[in-house]
Amino acid sequence: MCRHLAYLGTAVSLASVLYDAPHSLEHQSYAPADMRAGGTVNVDGYGVGWFPGPVRYRRAGTLWSDPNLRQLAATESTAFLAAVRSATVGMPVSDAACAPFTDGTWLFSHNGRVDGWPGTVAGLAKTLDVTDLLTMDAPTDSALLWTVLRRRLEAGKDPAEALVELVREVADAAPKSRLNFLLTNGKVLTGTTWTHTLWVLQEEQGVTIASERLDDDPGWREIPDRHVVTADPSTVEVRPI
Ligand code: GLN
Repeated sequence: MCRHLAYLGTAVSLASVLYDAPHSLEHQSYAPADMRAGGTVNVDGYGVGWFPGPVRYRRAGTLWSDPNLRQLAATESTAFLAAVRSATVGMPVSDAACAPFTDGTWLFSHNGRVDGWPGTVAGLAKTLDVTDLLTMDAPTDSALLWTVLRRRLEAGKDPAEALVELVREVADAAPKSRLNFLLTNGKVLTGTTWTHTLWVLQEEQGVTIASERLDDDPGWREIPDRHVVTADPSTVEVRPI
């Protein structure tokens, strides 16, 4: 399953988490430590989005073989979200299927899968209009969930509440789904755990939330399963879904 991470705080380079950390996202792409439910590596794509912007760059393929990303990674940012992808069986491998998904304000990533896709969540799709469906980034579970979620965010729903609501709806319709989400608008960062791991590190410079710990800093705390985390650079709040 995919690995993802997000950071909020004083400006740091994208390279610090993409390449430089001992268990960077690059390392997690070929040597992840805690993959579950199929998949051994994350080589089907990668993406990073950063603020101000957000500016988003994503490609199918392997993160380590992209010289353009190495150049871009010198960028320093106060808020970003990045992911590497292990495509769920049956889903397309393409640039547009890679996280982060964005609508110009938000960055979103999904680590997991919707069980019984697409039939189990046909009801959710009915809340969308034909334009939403025709402009979905890719015919994947993650892109559909993002299309549903972005409409709710546009309508002014609280981001953590919107994630929790989505987890509940999908888990009701498809109980064996895996639904670890990350969402940020550059000011607040929120995420869920639903069958995959998520860790948080709160430091003076800012907060990092990641599928796997990036280093052996003893400050990393595991977010329990079936919880929602909401963070800004100075506070982290974790509560059950
Ligand atoms: N199901 C999503 C996809 O195929 C996410 C995959 C994952 O978490 N491994 O893109």
